[in-house]
Amino acid sequence: MKLPLMKKKNLTRVIRKATFISIVILMIFVLVASNEITHNQLARTAQPLNGCLSTDSLPCRDTSKETISEPFLPNPELNEQQRFLSAIARKLPTIPQPGTYEYTLLRTYGAVFVNQDVGIKLPQKDIFANEQETKEFQATLIMGHVDGTNDCYLQKSAADALNKARIQQHIPLKSGYGSGDCTRTFNTNLIFWHKYANNQILAKVQQGRETKILGLVAPPGTSQHLWGLAIDLRISNQEQRKALNQNGWFQTVENDVPHWTYVGLSEENLPLFGFKKQAIRGINYWLTPL
Ligand SMILES: [Zn+2]
Repeated sequence: MKLPLMKKKNLTRVIRKATFISIVILMIFVLVASNEITHNQLARTAQPLNGCLSTDSLPCRDTSKETISEPFLPNPELNEQQRFLSAIARKLPTIPQPGTYEYTLLRTYGAVFVNQDVGIKLPQKDIFANEQETKEFQATLIMGHVDGTNDCYLQKSAADALNKARIQQHIPLKSGYGSGDCTRTFNTNLIFWHKYANNQILAKVQQGRETKILGLVAPPGTSQHLWGLAIDLRISNQEQRKALNQNGWFQTVENDVPHWTYVGLSEENLPLFGFKKQAIRGINYWLTPL
């Protein structure tokens, strides 16, 4: 059948129009469909966040990826030593063997390792070999200034707690203002050691034949002052001690009278973590059970 020329042209135009509309519809469909997928995916990803968006609680976090972090408390059914070790094992990857030099150091200076505060950093071992190792560790610390001093710095949580105690009571540093009472370098620790001891004494300490010196001065690379968690103070009354104790600061090194350690626990929790209270010449020390 032959169509007139005009009709033929019209038909071609109609077909073209229909094709164009179909393509547009198809494109819209594709776009809508892909958008739908994106929306669904977003909805799925955002699901854990929705809960906190609907509440006023801040900060808003994706709780689906978090593990529940209850504050750690040792099992009270364990003995003192086991309770202490279970707590420090969370911070110290390798517990030294009894009878070793490292074990002696842990017994004397290891109180800090029970600290469960995530803001507190602890070394991976209880002795630094040299200045470089000390510096590398100290470079990872978040430090805080001790109010009213020139250049006394401690790990921030420890400094904050000390500042709180020093608001309650006037608590002077042993030397007055100096940094020597606070966080020390490996070299300062070494200089102090040589002031009171020598290599023969060090050898005896390492062999476990001498321990008294540890209450006077820490062997090279082993001081709590290297970890930013100790300070030497001039204490003259019980109110000062009480203020320090209430803010997590305790005397943990036997016979080191001016030396205070930031343990970060409440006094009533110390026995649960295995600490033993020992009164020596009117001072209550909290000693590790090792
Ligand atoms: Zn000290």
